[in-house]
Formats: sequence, structure tokens, C-alpha cells
Amino acid sequence: MEKKEQLYEGKAKKVYATSDKNLCIVSYKDDATAFNGLKKGTIVGKGVVNNRMTNMMMRLLEKKGVPTHFVEELSDRDTVVKKVSIVPLEVIIRNVSAGSFAKRYGVEEGIVFDEPTIEFSYKNDDLGDPLINTYHALALKLATKEEIELIKKYAFKVNEVLKEYFLSLGVKLIDFKLEFGKTADGKIVLADEISPDTCRFWDVKTNEKLDKDRFRRDLGGVEDAYKEIFARVTKGE
Ligand code: ADP
Ligand code: UDP
Repeated sequence: MEKKEQLYEGKAKKVYATSDKNLCIVSYKDDATAFNGLKKGTIVGKGVVNNRMTNMMMRLLEKKGVPTHFVEELSDRDTVVKKVSIVPLEVIIRNVSAGSFAKRYGVEEGIVFDEPTIEFSYKNDDLGDPLINTYHALALKLATKEEIELIKKYAFKVNEVLKEYFLSLGVKLIDFKLEFGKTADGKIVLADEISPDTCRFWDVKTNEKLDKDRFRRDLGGVEDAYKEIFARVTKGE
């Protein structure tokens, strides 16, 4: 399968058309941004890590009954996926307080929750992805009630599967963001990526951060953190 015209260039990936109108090719870049594009940089090798790791996670989730957009890995950076219309909601699951949750509610990072939490942001860069509840999402017709229920069910299932999987690699899954899309035949599937760009990973023993927070917070060792989490994931294969 070959890339045809570029349909979209985002902050971390490019999306290309293919000869099949229901498929596209995503191409992962090393470009990194944070704080809604305010901070920009390059993380050498990130595109390869995020592409390959995302595909491994998508395969695992398919096996566990979560439908995904994944079709075929073409190369280190390129993957064929089902073309979907993205539901403009960022779905965030948290197991432990961190990031904007800690800031918003004035608590420290690292509080382990009894139950995972879910929240939604309206995926709209111009508005800065504002927090939104399901009533607002319905009012804005971003998805139907049934779709939102299904998205919630899949998101918690993803958490169950990935939490256990990462724990087996000595990694705590702190929080992550998911995107869902609708296929041509109207099916809701997990789309976009699951990577150190979109998840927080802390080492079980040391709490060392193995994710994009090293870039966001100028902690150093950014490339090494991506390499480390990727090494653990590939070893676990
Ligand atoms: P952003 O748009 O936030 O800068 P990216 O650089 O990751 O993000 O760009 C990839 C874009 O492709 C995102 O907007 C994402 O929602 C979209 N996307 C992800 N998976 C699919 C898919 N299967 N079909 C169509 N679009 C997708
Ligand atoms: N996240 C993401 N894209 C976003 C916002 C958040 O992938 O646009 C991920 C982020 O990597 C983290 C989780 O979602 O794993 C929760 O992020 P949070 O709300 O704490 O926001 P942040 O601290 O990144 O601003």
C-alpha cells in the first residue's frame, strides 16, 4: 500500500490518503509539542517508538475485544489504519493524580485512586481543548448518547488491559488520553495513538518518568526515556 496525497499534517503525525478510500496511512514524526503547541522541539527517534508501540498496543487491545483502527504496520514510521471520522473528544483516564488533575484540584501528584476516573476534553485547538462533560458533548452533537456510552466502556477496558500489561513490565500507568473514531460503516473504534506522548508511565520502583513529561518539564533524558519504555515493551513481546 502506498501513500497518495497528504490529507493532514498534525503536530506529531501526517495522514495520507491511499488507493482505498476507507484506509489511510499515518506517518509518525519526531516533532514534539506541549502546552497546546507553545513549546516545540524534536525528540530523536520518537516517531519510530510511537508508531511501533501504538501498533503493539492496538494489537493487544483487539485481542482483548476493543475494536481499533489498526490495519498494518508498513515500516518503522508508517502504518495503514482505517480512515475514521474522529469523535472530537479527548478521553482521559487516570489511575493516579498527575498533570492537569493535580493542578486543577490543588493536590499533589502520585495519589493512587481507589477507582479510575474518566474525563473528556473538547478536541479543539483554537479553544485549547476545554474540559467538557457528556451533557455538553450531547448538546454540541459531538456524539450520540449510545456512542458516548460505548466510548466510556472501551476506555475503561483499555485501562484494565494496559494497566495490567505495563505493571508486568515494571511500569505504572498513571494516566492517558484516547481518541475514538467512526468508520465508514458507522462503527466506533479506538483511533490515534497510545504512546509516551499520550500516556504517563512511572517506573514501579523509582517513580522515574518514562514519558513526555520529561520534555514538557525539561527534566532531561527525554530520548532515553522513550528508548527505555520501548525496550521494555519490545522485551515483553
Ligand atoms: P494533532 O492533530 O493533535 O496535531 P497528530 O499530529 O497526532 O495530532 O495528527 C494526527 C491526526 O490524525 C489527529 O488529528 C487524529 O485525530 C487523526 N487521526 C488519528 N487516527 C485517525 C484515523 N484512523 N483516521 C483519520 N484520522 C485519524
Ligand atoms: N494528553 C494527551 N494530549 C493532550 C492532553 C493530554 O495525550 O492534549 C495525555 C497526557 O499525556 C497525559 C493524560 O493525557 O497522559 C492526562 O493529561 P493532563 O490532563 O494531566 O494534561 P497535561 O498535564 O498534559 O496538560
